[in-house]
Amino acid sequence: MPKWIFVTGGVMSGLGKGIVAASMAKLLTMTGLKVSAAKIDPYLNVDAGTLNPMAHGEVFVCDDGSECDMDLGNYERFLDKPLARYHNITSGQVYSQVIKDERKGKYLGQCVQIIPHLTNEIKRCIRLVAEMDNADCVVIECGGTVGDIESLPFLEALRQMRLEEGPSNTLFVHVTLVPALDVVGEQKTKPTQHSVQELRRIGIQPDIIVARSEKPLTKEAKSKIALFSSVDLKSVISNPDVESIYSVPENLASEGIVSAICEKLQLSNKEIHWGEWKKISESFIGNKEEVRIAMVGKYTALADSYVSINHALAHAGAQLGLKVKVGWIEAECFENQEESCKELEKYHGVLIPGGFGKRGSEGKIIVANYCREKGIPYLGLCFGFQLALASFARYACGLENANSTELDPNTPHPVIDLLPEQREIKDLGATMRLGAHEINLIEGTLAFRLYQKKVIRERHRHRYEFNQNYREIFERNGMVFSGFSDEGKRVEIMEIPNHPFYLATQYHAEFISRPGKAEPVFLGLLEASLKRKYAMHAITARV
Ligand code: GLN
Repeated sequence: MPKWIFVTGGVMSGLGKGIVAASMAKLLTMTGLKVSAAKIDPYLNVDAGTLNPMAHGEVFVCDDGSECDMDLGNYERFLDKPLARYHNITSGQVYSQVIKDERKGKYLGQCVQIIPHLTNEIKRCIRLVAEMDNADCVVIECGGTVGDIESLPFLEALRQMRLEEGPSNTLFVHVTLVPALDVVGEQKTKPTQHSVQELRRIGIQPDIIVARSEKPLTKEAKSKIALFSSVDLKSVISNPDVESIYSVPENLASEGIVSAICEKLQLSNKEIHWGEWKKISESFIGNKEEVRIAMVGKYTALADSYVSINHALAHAGAQLGLKVKVGWIEAECFENQEESCKELEKYHGVLIPGGFGKRGSEGKIIVANYCREKGIPYLGLCFGFQLALASFARYACGLENANSTELDPNTPHPVIDLLPEQREIKDLGATMRLGAHEINLIEGTLAFRLYQKKVIRERHRHRYEFNQNYREIFERNGMVFSGFSDEGKRVEIMEIPNHPFYLATQYHAEFISRPGKAEPVFLGLLEASLKRKYAMHAITARV
């Protein structure tokens, strides 16, 4: 029988509940258990694919092509294990299933209700995770904040699971915020007390409270939380701000979370075998050599819109002993303003991430060209690949107004276009080219040098692709295509030789980067950026 750990959130969103869930799963994995993690998202969307990253954060893509909540990225990065569609349960999925079943006549004669029909479907989806993964223990994080209307059926299902699975097989961890408002920094436990009350009102008594705060919890705050929430003192876990999220498992462990979990779930094996983990987590701390990367995008207002890229840069930085400082620049700033490109000179490298739509695209095309001409290290991912190609077409091949048909359907040179199989598609949800596909690398290229392999597997999320009718003219003008998929049908990587680093990929290299196993293209960008930094210093020193 699997053990279940349910993670809820109180007070407000954005507390790092996902990191707590991922860290607990990591710690339990290191005790030798087979652990899985899944996320409940109470929104009505079937999946995260159609959500605006600006409002909701990045859409994370799994190997199987599912478009998921970004917390799945955290689970994958901590557990170093690929997850799939069934690890992300949404209201959209459970409601559609119940309605589909009702139409089929499954509930004939019954009045179909939230309890028990919807909650039964929720429990089925949750149990499926343990079954599919053959897990000893499953960490289930319920998105949103306790008190939200949307999450009520899910919390009710979790309450029922405790009754059905028994108290020694289920554990509720409530993650809350303990703010400190005044200058003295007295930690205020009232919001935590209230959110525990809210949880109790719906029939759930938490077993462990993880309190997020700026500084470690004081003894007084801990005792107060224990008393008012009715949990033992050992089960109030302090989770203060840290320099790197990869330190959270060690912090939680030093607070005794593993003993608290094991005691309550009657697990005997409490010893943590850290293996390489501490060395990896330490590599993220205290790096002084700074490399500045400009990220030119459209969703720059919310760092969460590109969360996996930030992590991938941090992974590569940690591996190289560097501190990566990312500067966000709104792509539109570069449009019709030659001068604004000078802004890029403050950075050591440039990254253009994935994106959609016309706004800001001309700015990105200008930036891609500036980096190519000025020898600034450039990494393009997905949209950043497509726009680097459009830019090369215009400025290096003389193909005036070349563009992607996504941005200009009437362009005289559709260098990026829909592939035939995309033309018939009407629905926008889950219809892009998604998930992991094999890519063959061409020996002797930069890509091959970076990966040191002939075949790689990378994740995708795009509709438009390079139009190979233009391949010859591009190659004639100096571009090298170094990665292909589907027997050469699709171009996956472009690079420019005789440039410090100019490489772009149709795939999203960021999704499979892991701490301790950085993705080669990010390592390549940072290495070249560091060289540029040294060269820039040498010039200033001479002047
Ligand atoms: N908008 C582009 C496409 O659909 C790129 C997508 C992306 O960057 N994820 O192909």
